[in-house]
Amino acid sequence: NRQFRLARRPNGLPEREDFALTTETLPEAGDGEVRVAIDYISLDPAMRGWMNAGKSYIKPVGIDEVMRAGAAGTVIDSKHPDFSAGDKVAANMGVQTHAVFPGKQLRKVDTNLAELPVYLGALGMPGMTAYFGTLEVGALADGETVLVSAASGAVGALVGQIAKKKGCHVVGIAGGKTKCDYIVDELGFDAAIDYKNEDVADAVKRHCPDGLDVYFDNVGGEILDAALANLRLGARVVICGAISQYNKTGGKMDDAAYAPKNYMSLLVNRARMEGFIVFDFTDRYPQAAKDMAEWISAGDLKHREDIVEGFDTFPETLNKLFSGDNFGKLVLKV
Ligand code: NDP
Repeated sequence: NRQFRLARRPNGLPEREDFALTTETLPEAGDGEVRVAIDYISLDPAMRGWMNAGKSYIKPVGIDEVMRAGAAGTVIDSKHPDFSAGDKVAANMGVQTHAVFPGKQLRKVDTNLAELPVYLGALGMPGMTAYFGTLEVGALADGETVLVSAASGAVGALVGQIAKKKGCHVVGIAGGKTKCDYIVDELGFDAAIDYKNEDVADAVKRHCPDGLDVYFDNVGGEILDAALANLRLGARVVICGAISQYNKTGGKMDDAAYAPKNYMSLLVNRARMEGFIVFDFTDRYPQAAKDMAEWISAGDLKHREDIVEGFDTFPETLNKLFSGDNFGKLVLKV
């Protein structure tokens, strides 16, 4: 059993030296426990935040602890009545090749319905984030105008498609022509803005002349400001993430975190800006996952996984999220 442990807290973009690759013998399963061979590890932007010290919505990963991560795998053997060898499971299992877990922490998944990596994407945490962020926090109504950033990514691509299902006018922001073409041509967004080559505030004005009802923010920074400048009366700004800011820890990458300038637009437009954490909706995941699975089988929701093979590449593969080199839900194949 091999694992990546957090060796020190990264300063800016994580580096290989921030982790220690260790090897241990996998213990036998005790009563109520299950041994799992991990097949796929979910690489999420939030992992960068979990590496920082200090108070957050979840406790930081400790130094020398196995790096926290969602994962999916196959049961090797089990001393829990609900699991047997060969079952496919998903859970928070960490960046490691094998693990022993209490059965009650594992969720059995049906690979007849969808392939295993999809349970780390559209039918997993990012899917739940898109579902509750859009429908609950964004309180999206039929026919509204919606803007979403990181629009070709795990969460953003689903947000846009859920909004299209509700007959909304949907505009996505993504980096580069390939991703922009994808969200329009494959996913059915009404328009795309290439933030690497266009002035975002101007483009939002052009594509949404009457302003935005919902801005679903995955990136923060100047793009958030451009959206704030284009709100309409009663708009909702959903703060899902701010990936452009995650590595701004005052280290060598640094420039300081970007502070939005256009927040007075919230006052003028009687708008609200609200952050959320998907884990707060855990009790309602089963219903949401059922809806998402139905929408996928009906062809209303497309999902895309970007699977990188090689456990040892973990630090470099994780950083694809911050350079935009991932295209779809980023998954590490063990
Ligand atoms: P993605 O699959 O969208 O991958 C990240 C993408 O972010 C990259 O591909 C890149 O796309 C874009 N990006 C990276 N850096 C920048 C930048 N400086 N400016 C603009 N875009 C950038 O990741 P996820 O879908 O997993 O996550 C999306 C967001 O949702 C993150 O902020 C994450 O933290 C958040 N999140 C929040 C949750 C919650 O409970 N609140 C739960 C899950 C995710 P491009 O090539 O287009 O630049």
